[in-house]
Amino acid sequence: MSGRQTTEEIYRQMGISHDLWEIGERVLTDLKERFSKIDETAEINQIKVLGAMQKARISAEHFNGSTGYGYNDAGRDDLERVYASVFHTEDALVRSQITCGTHALSLALAANLRPGDELLSLSGKPYDTLEEVIGIRPSRGSLAEYGITYRQAELKEDGSFDAEAIRNALRPNTRIAAIQRSKGYLTRPSLSVEQIGEAIRFVKDLRPDILVMVDNCYGEFVDRIEPSDVGADMTVGSLIKNPGGGLAPMGGYIAGTKECVENCAVRLTSPGLGREVGASLGINRSLYQGLFLAPTVTAGALKGAIFAANLFERFGFTCIPNGKEPRQDIIQAIEFGSAKGLIAFCEGIQAAAPVDSYVSPEPWAMPGYDSDVIMAAGAFIQGSSIELSADGPLHEPYAAYFQGGLTFPHAKFGILKAAQRLLDQNLIKPGAWQRN
Ligand SMILES: *Cc1c(COP(=O)(O)O)cnc(C)c1O
Repeated sequence: MSGRQTTEEIYRQMGISHDLWEIGERVLTDLKERFSKIDETAEINQIKVLGAMQKARISAEHFNGSTGYGYNDAGRDDLERVYASVFHTEDALVRSQITCGTHALSLALAANLRPGDELLSLSGKPYDTLEEVIGIRPSRGSLAEYGITYRQAELKEDGSFDAEAIRNALRPNTRIAAIQRSKGYLTRPSLSVEQIGEAIRFVKDLRPDILVMVDNCYGEFVDRIEPSDVGADMTVGSLIKNPGGGLAPMGGYIAGTKECVENCAVRLTSPGLGREVGASLGINRSLYQGLFLAPTVTAGALKGAIFAANLFERFGFTCIPNGKEPRQDIIQAIEFGSAKGLIAFCEGIQAAAPVDSYVSPEPWAMPGYDSDVIMAAGAFIQGSSIELSADGPLHEPYAAYFQGGLTFPHAKFGILKAAQRLLDQNLIKPGAWQRN
């Protein structure tokens, strides 16, 4: 018979040494104030989501799915009203037929650009998968194939918008200006909603005819406002990241002006059909319930990222963002400086998963990458990166990109498990360890 356990005992039982556990607790004590601010943001966003659901008079009928054409699917249509209300936009398209974040972004662009138009990125190089969407890397079906040109204004050295570069990059046919909030796999800082707002005002003052699209992936509910609150015409993201709350099994969203969203709807299905079709099958309940949980799930993931940065900084590793910096998304990069360190970290994250914890991640040559990549994910939803996950390419600086955790206790455990793995393999310098 086992009695009531202390947290330390249960961690020890799960392979975390007493010393490491204690350091973790010390790190967390220093983070109390910061965590309470995150809880406050979660509280505000929770009430915002709740209010939106009440306003849309959500009832049990909304959870009935539709089949076939999916006509008159009130659950699907009202979920879109709820998203529009949360993002303070005229309209939103939230669909399982939007297969992922890349698809949502591709849809937003393709639906609102016409041959001869130009797309301008205000935040430098876009996320990897968009290179093929745009045609930066030649690709079948790219915007380039449809006669849509592309240009980018680089960010300044410090990662902020470069007003002069933006002004110089504008052309008479510039139609959409795109901004990526999260740094993705780059080491630039992520952009704050305030910064995004300033850039939007700058562009719209010069050229009110230009539409602004923001890639909001990993940013939802990290702040109390969203890009749509500061003038974005389209705010776009994936449901297997923050706004799906870990429960959405698939999907993407576009929240924006009536005109932009309508263009997306007819492009997603077909001219003439638009948003009237698209069976939701049985997933409405998960999309509602996931959105309902998203503010607190995001808060947990955010705390996990901050805990990881502060713990691994104590062990002498460079963390981006660092332990003190403000956060605009839930992604944490940790530079290990060696393949062994990166692999050990990912093994630890995998070993902490609720699913596939017994398998060991191996570096492999992933299509589209120029070096091997290692990925750790033991998720309920395939590829879901609001769940605890990590990956990194095996080249300098051997950085792991780490994110998620459906609950903070799980994120914390995963981070400790990863640190333990590095300790067991003597990959943490004894000096760094003892100093604390
Ligand atoms: C994840 C992500 C995407 C693409 O989303 P997928 O669902 O992986 O296709 C685009 N932009 C950013 C910044 C992302 O983080």
